[in-house]
Amino acid sequence: MASDQKTEVRVRFAPSPTGYFHIGSARTALFNWLFAKNQGGKFILRIEDTDTERSKKEFEDDILDNLKWLGLDWDEGPLTQADIDSKRTNTEILKNSPQESTLSPYRSLYKGDFGPYRQSERLSIYERYLFKLLQENRAYWCFCSKEDLEIERQAMLAQGLPPKYSGRCSKIDPEEAEKRLKAGEKAVIRFRTPQTEIIFSDIIRGNIKFDTSLLGDIVIAKSLREPLFNLAVVVDDYEMKISHVIRGEDHISNTPKQILLQKALGFPEPKYAHIPLTLAADRSKLSKRFIETSLNEYRKAGYLQEAMINFIAYLGWHPKEEKDIMDKEELIQEFDLKRIQKANAIFNPAKLDWLNSQYIKKIPESEIKERLKNFVPKEWLKNEKLLIKAFNLAKERIKKLDEFKESAEFFFKLPNYKPELLSWQGMEKEKVISNLNILIEAIEKIDEKNFTLEKIENAIMPLTEALGRGELLWPLRVALSGKEASPGPFEIMDALGKIETLERLRLAIKKLL
Ligand code: GLU
Repeated sequence: MASDQKTEVRVRFAPSPTGYFHIGSARTALFNWLFAKNQGGKFILRIEDTDTERSKKEFEDDILDNLKWLGLDWDEGPLTQADIDSKRTNTEILKNSPQESTLSPYRSLYKGDFGPYRQSERLSIYERYLFKLLQENRAYWCFCSKEDLEIERQAMLAQGLPPKYSGRCSKIDPEEAEKRLKAGEKAVIRFRTPQTEIIFSDIIRGNIKFDTSLLGDIVIAKSLREPLFNLAVVVDDYEMKISHVIRGEDHISNTPKQILLQKALGFPEPKYAHIPLTLAADRSKLSKRFIETSLNEYRKAGYLQEAMINFIAYLGWHPKEEKDIMDKEELIQEFDLKRIQKANAIFNPAKLDWLNSQYIKKIPESEIKERLKNFVPKEWLKNEKLLIKAFNLAKERIKKLDEFKESAEFFFKLPNYKPELLSWQGMEKEKVISNLNILIEAIEKIDEKNFTLEKIENAIMPLTEALGRGELLWPLRVALSGKEASPGPFEIMDALGKIETLERLRLAIKKLL
């Protein structure tokens, strides 16, 4: 069976909707997605929302929204609206439990807006496997109260032993347990953890050994309809025919538990790849604030999805050849799990800004309006020609799209500036006025339909010889931009057009009179 599984690569991204979608989650998703694409396999999205107290719709929406923004599309979704959680109790379920496990249906769908799988909609599937484990006596009902467990724990600690469950309820006869359940006693389901050594081979970290006698009998469900994390993951990875589990290194300690559960249920073992952590630039653990920063924040600040993808791909992975810029297609071609490093990845914000500025420069003119629509006032969008010219001038200097508005504002509305700003190095007011008049005269001669950068330069540059470069071009640039620093005057004129240029020059003169 294991060898059949090898033929199709099927991976999953399995976030718990208990927080915003941050860089760490994005990286796990991206590595899974790139691997699936590289291998011609499938990428599955599974929302792990069995923790009903901490799971929130808001977080799930955030995850889906950001995956879509990054273009990490998933390949499958549930066939039906899922198994609805009925309000039956453990006792009722015990009476009517199905003898046979019918696997949940799933199918490949064309790309689109469907899915994702949600664990909360698959409770009857976990129930079947829990029931099987109980029937085969590989799991048992545990009636110990929290207080009992705490006393036990303290006693173990006092003896210098590592605390683990004593196995007190493991000896209760199943019929007796059923009676106690019927009588309404509270219980959880524990797995009879075999005491053995588990060795698994991690694609990134090599062989990992684990002594399971340290674990004790772990709780796998709070009831037949309330599976816990490890059980749900194992069942779903099997049902969804997952070939490779690619996830954060923080899950390494869960892997031996999951392998034991797989063995107990007769499931094949997927391949594992645990991705190292991401650290801050100073190698400290990334702050909670960072960890919790939704990718939305980056989007709102005007980071492009292409830059994010490129940046995130390099957090702990790099291509064979040394190169900084790789688009999605190249990443798909070159992605290889074996090139994920063992050492922690370092988050370098300056690198992200640099990458973003590179991708900003590459935005094709046909996309400028769409890309800027959330970053500029609505009126600006009405003048696409000016928007494109303004952007082409600003793009050399901005690192994020949210910097564009400020740097381009003067194209759309001349700011109110002080008349003194028009004077270059203490020039007399009269001299400024006279130079502006000369400029107006020269500009008026240029054909309005042919108001190009070349024509503008040809008309004005010869005048600088007699009148001085600074003396002519400084007042011109300030009259056009109202700012101390801006792109060059000819470029601004080309963007504004003849009429607006003349209007701004006349206004400058008026200010000085
Ligand atoms: N739901 C887990 C999490 O969000 C991931 C589980 C897994 O990948 O196996 O951390």
